[in-house]
Amino acid sequence: MAKLRRQDLDELDRQDALAPLRASFHLPRGLVYLDGNSLGPLPRAARQRLRRVVDLEWGRDLIGSWNRHGWIDLPLVVGEKIGRLLGAGPGETAVADSTSVNVFKLAAAALALSPGRRTIVALASDFPSDLYVLAGLAELLRDGSDGRPVKVELVAPDDVGSALGPDTALLVASHVDFRTGRLHDLAALSRLAHQHGALVLFDLAHSAGVVPLELARWQVDLAVGCGYKYLNGGPGAPAFLYVASRHQDALRQPLSGWMGHAAPFRFEPTYEPAPGIGRTLCGTPPILSLAALDAALEVFDGVDVGALRAKSMALGEVFLRLVGERCGDAGLELASPANAVDRGSQISLRHARGYGIVQALAARGVVGDFRAPDLLRFGFAPTFLRFRDLWTAALALERVLEREEWDRAEHRRQLKVT
Ligand SMILES: *Cc1c(COP(=O)(O)O)cnc(C)c1O
Repeated sequence: MAKLRRQDLDELDRQDALAPLRASFHLPRGLVYLDGNSLGPLPRAARQRLRRVVDLEWGRDLIGSWNRHGWIDLPLVVGEKIGRLLGAGPGETAVADSTSVNVFKLAAAALALSPGRRTIVALASDFPSDLYVLAGLAELLRDGSDGRPVKVELVAPDDVGSALGPDTALLVASHVDFRTGRLHDLAALSRLAHQHGALVLFDLAHSAGVVPLELARWQVDLAVGCGYKYLNGGPGAPAFLYVASRHQDALRQPLSGWMGHAAPFRFEPTYEPAPGIGRTLCGTPPILSLAALDAALEVFDGVDVGALRAKSMALGEVFLRLVGERCGDAGLELASPANAVDRGSQISLRHARGYGIVQALAARGVVGDFRAPDLLRFGFAPTFLRFRDLWTAALALERVLEREEWDRAEHRRQLKVT
């Protein structure tokens, strides 16, 4: 096969039906941003909306904005918009808190829905915050409401089947492995868990907005995910959570704050959960962040997630091919599955000097991220990336490796956030 040329990538951009979406974002000139999987870029609509919320809603209308500008309804209104990207039914998605906090609320709720079952099975490779939260929940429940402590069992993805049993209350799994990008088959995991009478809680942080999801069809019980990754809601944007309708009436979550009360403004001394998904809320929502997320979701209006997925797979394939052609013998190793269908929207490469390489790339205007101990991680957000950006990225990577730029003192200095 002939080597890819720059013109080939320009041609792919010309054929790309999603190319116009790029204009929905503010992107610094000259930057190749392969980190939309960690923090999405600023959508123009979010910037405009923030200006309006600050100046008019907060600045002028003050407390009246809870009613007048519908602030109070935003958690469910924005949840509904995200629900469409998840294949959720109406009234099954809300926006609240962080993904970590939502894992806590829903894992606790799952235990309460599964009397007599005390084991949570989770993937050892899952995002550590999810595992820390599950450990914290088990610690809290160590004395056991029915006399037995809660146990968290960590397993490899391929061992889930043998780990599930009559004591399993819940299977927790991420859709995409944040390190390798491996895509797990949520429909199959859901079926497997249900065969054992267990519920599932899936973390969609790296798939919402970029991989087609069919939560209702896959019979998913519970799910969580981030607002600031492919959904572009901004730094610290609130997270989403999903509860299948069939579980909502019985669902009890332990952070039973007033925003999840059936009638918060009756100020009754006892808690009565709101009907439906509203009971998953806890305290006052962060309106600035929530409004930004609401506006950011306009990017997805009329966009088919299947088309986004097709482009993101093509971007990954082209990137891999370019890296193979230009950096083939530079000691990089593919840490992601070799087939695009088995990956989320990222590619991870392994290199002992990974940290310095990622820093040196950033200095050249190509932003990816590093995951300890040796992973270079590149995300392919199909909403704003161009094929020609991959050309720039692969050339920069080639130079960094050739000139050993990773060895420069300024690129070896460990920063607090990687
Ligand atoms: C990014 C990410 C999180 C982050 O959770 P926060 O509580 O928002 O910090 C959780 N889970 C997964 C799988 C992630 O990739």
